Amino acid sequence: MEETAGLRRRFLIIVILCGLLWGGLMQIPASLGWVPLGPEQTRNNLLFVAMSGATLLVAWRRPSSFLPVAVVYFAGAILYASAAQFLVVEDQLRMLLFFPLVGAIFLIIGRAAAWIAILVAIGVFAAASADGSIRVSPLAASTFVITLCIIGLFFQAFSHQTTRALTMISRQNLALDAAAKQDHLTRLLNLRAFREAMQAHAGDLRPDGGFSVAFVDVDHFKAINDRYGHAIGDAVLVALARTLEAAVRAPGEVARIGGEEFAILLPGADLAEAAPAAERMRAAVAAMQVDAGGATLSVTVSIGLAASRSSFDTIDALLQAADAAMYEAKRGGRNRVALAGAG
Ligand code: GH3
Ligand code: MG
Ligand code: MG
Repeated sequence: MEETAGLRRRFLIIVILCGLLWGGLMQIPASLGWVPLGPEQTRNNLLFVAMSGATLLVAWRRPSSFLPVAVVYFAGAILYASAAQFLVVEDQLRMLLFFPLVGAIFLIIGRAAAWIAILVAIGVFAAASADGSIRVSPLAASTFVITLCIIGLFFQAFSHQTTRALTMISRQNLALDAAAKQDHLTRLLNLRAFREAMQAHAGDLRPDGGFSVAFVDVDHFKAINDRYGHAIGDAVLVALARTLEAAVRAPGEVARIGGEEFAILLPGADLAEAAPAAERMRAAVAAMQVDAGGATLSVTVSIGLAASRSSFDTIDALLQAADAAMYEAKRGGRNRVALAGAG
């Protein structure tokens, strides 16, 4: 949001600068007598240059007044363009001047404010025609108003469709982003999202902060696949995911980081505090019963624990230490928790 506001303001400043340059440059050939500018045209030109200079100054110095400044500027720009139009009455093609102008207005200040600027311009135009400051035939006046409204309606529809498309794209991006971070089978975080979660706690790698990582691997999982089939193996992984989530309780991030490997982030926990949590997870899995087409089966896990306070420089080193501790638990007989650095 901030970003688009800055972008719109820069765009407005560029538009004002271009108009200023145009109005200013017009005066040079006119003063040299190369372009015949009547007194009315010269007055309008100088008024436009003065108005552009003033709005540019405000837009530059006071970003908070962006919208009113832009509305005033664009109403003035429409009037300037209409003055150019009506001074050459026979040249109706000059109505095309309004097309890029109205487009820029909708782009920079949005639909509602654009209509306000158009209505202000029409109002000033009508008042100036009524008191004779602008001399214009009824046909030219109605062509001006109708052209402006038709171009406005065109950009109204255009901007509406563009906004809808952008909203749809950003919604799809959010959904894609969420899908890219999720494990499709268990709906847990995947490895990429888990690394991001660890990265978010990386500040805690300082000795005074801290978090722990539990690396969980299913014991003899291949045997379950071999005996009950891959589908039941998958059902076990899903049940395991739910059991681990329930066992963590405290704010934790549970991820499936490999085939039958899970990782849990335990924020704010050192090794001594994480060990009971890991033991709770191990016991919850061991107590879990999964329906395997009539029979119930149970599994156990081996868990390796590593804590960020144990002077690991990177999250990869921490994850590797937890993995190594998990292998220690396997070697120790499985269905147990092993702590990194415990020898
Ligand atoms: P250990 O106790 O040493 O860990 O023995 P294990 O059998 O669990 O170890 P191993 O690494 O040999 O086997 C892991 C098995 O996990 C192999 C593979 O068939 C299975 N596996 C990996 N991903 C999936 C999956 O998405 N679904 C199913 N059903 N099985 C999977
Ligand atoms: Mg494994
Ligand atoms: Mg295994």
